[in-house]
Amino acid sequence: MKVLITGAAGFLGSHLSDKFLAEGYEVIGMDNLLTGDMSNIAHLMPKKEFTFYHHDVSKFVHVPGELDYILHFASPASPIDYLKMPIQTLKVGSLGTHNLLGLAKAKSARLLIASTSEVYGDPLVHPQTEDYWGNVNPIGPRGVYDEAKRFQEAITMAYHTFHGLEVRIVRIFNTYGPRMRMDDGRALPTFFSQAMKGEDITVFGDGSQTRSFCYVSDLVGGIYKLLKSDYAHPVNIGNPVEITIKQAAEEVVSLTNSSSKIIFKDLPKDDPKVRQPDISLAKKLLNWEPVVSREEGLLKTFEYFKTKMAE
Ligand code: UDP
Repeated sequence: MKVLITGAAGFLGSHLSDKFLAEGYEVIGMDNLLTGDMSNIAHLMPKKEFTFYHHDVSKFVHVPGELDYILHFASPASPIDYLKMPIQTLKVGSLGTHNLLGLAKAKSARLLIASTSEVYGDPLVHPQTEDYWGNVNPIGPRGVYDEAKRFQEAITMAYHTFHGLEVRIVRIFNTYGPRMRMDDGRALPTFFSQAMKGEDITVFGDGSQTRSFCYVSDLVGGIYKLLKSDYAHPVNIGNPVEITIKQAAEEVVSLTNSSSKIIFKDLPKDDPKVRQPDISLAKKLLNWEPVVSREEGLLKTFEYFKTKMAE
């Protein structure tokens, strides 16, 4: 069995590559290294079951031979990254997805796309269920990501209904763990970086906005099960344990035993006030739910950041 994983040098793509290799697949990893990092897959390069293509999937994608599965995980994925790279973000979610749908059709492969809780925008339904349509500002700073992902879902469903293509759509909620970039601007890596350097911890707004953080191995397990399922509509995968951002900052300060103090900065525009996945569907359909506690996950993440900072 052979799988193409786009964004393979990124945080999630590299963990998925590990998972599929461990399950006995041949893996083709593709990445243009815009936000990905070869150090995430350096350990895979010597393996004969792993091939790396340095390619931008917004351009025509050619892969020789047969393919069983395609997982589209290429995209800038933090608010800071897509503010810096708005056009690339739009292109990889739209043109990139179109290219991969075409490839999946040509190879009769099943395509799983990485969608996001951002399709719910600043949600007016809480927790978010898959049947909620969202509250997104198309021309706000997050619009380039949110609308690309909404278009991605739309075109993926169109290929499913019109061409009968086998598709899977995972809506990923905030995820963390080893191989996140310390400078990607997301809350947890930023807090770790600041705490470990003794800098002020920058909480945006009053820190009362909430998120629900899922450890990466839980997410990967859910995605694997979804791929193998026979369900073509979107499924939330995430951890439903919801905390405030201020609490997340305090936990990082305490875990790292840091002397950093928490300071408050302006809340970015359109920053969702709450976010929590309703995972009833995933539980029923996939018999899946997260098992890694935040205590355990944050500790593993801290261990990783320590080795990164020592490099
Ligand atoms: N955040 C923060 N300080 C930072 C980075 C992020 O307070 O240095 C906040 C951000 O405003 C948001 C939450 O943390 O409310 C989660 O941000 P992240 O960028 O991790 O992901 P999002 O869920 O907003 O896409």
